[in-house]
Amino acid sequence: MTAERRPAKIRSAEIRAPKHAHSQALHQRAEQFFPGGVNSPVRAFRAVGGSPPFIDRAQGAYLFDADGNRYIDYFGSWGPMILGHAFPPVVEAIERAARNSASFGASTSAEADLAEHIVACYPAIEKMRFVSSGTEATMSAIRLARAATGRKLIVKFEGCYHGHADGLLVKAGSGVATFGIPGSAGVPKEIARLTLALPYNDLKALKAAFAAHPKTIAAVIVEPIVGNAGCIPPAPGFLSALRKITASHGALFIVDEVMTGFRVALGGACRLYSLDPDLITLGKIVGGGLPVGVFGGKRVFMDLVSPLGPVYQAGTLSGNPLAMAAGLATIGYLQKHEREVYPRLEATSKAVAEGVAAEAARAGILLTTNRVGSMWTWFFTKGPVTNYTRAARSDTKAFGRFHRAMLDRGIWLPPSQFEAAFISTAHGDAEVKATIAAARAAFASLREN
Ligand SMILES: *Cc1c(COP(=O)(O)O)cnc(C)c1O
Repeated sequence: MTAERRPAKIRSAEIRAPKHAHSQALHQRAEQFFPGGVNSPVRAFRAVGGSPPFIDRAQGAYLFDADGNRYIDYFGSWGPMILGHAFPPVVEAIERAARNSASFGASTSAEADLAEHIVACYPAIEKMRFVSSGTEATMSAIRLARAATGRKLIVKFEGCYHGHADGLLVKAGSGVATFGIPGSAGVPKEIARLTLALPYNDLKALKAAFAAHPKTIAAVIVEPIVGNAGCIPPAPGFLSALRKITASHGALFIVDEVMTGFRVALGGACRLYSLDPDLITLGKIVGGGLPVGVFGGKRVFMDLVSPLGPVYQAGTLSGNPLAMAAGLATIGYLQKHEREVYPRLEATSKAVAEGVAAEAARAGILLTTNRVGSMWTWFFTKGPVTNYTRAARSDTKAFGRFHRAMLDRGIWLPPSQFEAAFISTAHGDAEVKATIAAARAAFASLREN
């Protein structure tokens, strides 16, 4: 935006508002083909209003849209892009693999190469299987847990998202130890009833559920740090208690690290909180931006999977060579540079999360900042935010206005109050400074309106 085009006295909110004519046209065209114009619902920006910019390309910490606007990226493709966009070693690995054909449907050495890295980072994973999404990973882990225990019920926690399989799209029932209700049209209530949805960080509720349903709970699945209700850290001792309680009731403990894996530490939340679960699910970063999911864990359970055992699970594109190459380049880099990468992510995240929070405080706007490493959320509510009920008290309209005010200033935050923000190793001091300055102006514009 050129300075000449600025009228003398215009409200700060409008000074650099980017143009979106091309994106709007592209969105209208897309609406003919895709429900809401998108292939995944949050991309439609319904939670924050306005139509979503269409992306042309991205480099490092920056996204460029169809109208030539540039944004600092704070959602990283919802998690995978921890090394920044178009990171050369990842691009080269994909190009090299593509020259040898995009898919064989037969085994390659790259699968075991990536598996070796994963086992080194997640010692609880003795054996694994590659799938093509986080949804497939959690769905398969649940099937395996039911087979291993001969039990039907699953416990999950409110606000945790584990992909869109029927049994995991379940809301809480009216009481903590009662059965779940469908969280989506099309999920039969008979299936939802097999899932108990409990409040996160609430051990009493968990104990009550085990007491009310003796010997029928197959597994407890948890986002070790909630990301999908906004960032909510586990209360001290919560996760280790999950491990103990599941073990004492003969249920499996499934840690869903699709978001946190390789994000909060190389060894994910399991490393951070010294967890030894029965099964772990991975996704997002493990594919370096290509579609990869993993479910894995103790050998006794994984050996129940077909063709060794009776649990059927398969995938035409599972272990796809391009996806393996991108994953290997990403995880290999993270492992080699662990000592620089994670302290850098921590320092940059802390600077931006706290810097923006300080601007809010200065503007008299009430925010609660939850952060674990390079995932965080600014909740527009008085804290503490320790579970979904408390997160839901946020002023989502204020968040929507903040989101738009930041977007207008070249900062792309996740387009919902209930999503975690992420950064990459490509983000540095310049991006932090620009973001804090944008937040100062954005908060000022919120107060004007
Ligand atoms: C994103 C996510 C999933 C689903 O992964 P997809 O690849 O989108 O299917 C599952 N669990 C968690 C914790 C996630 O963040």
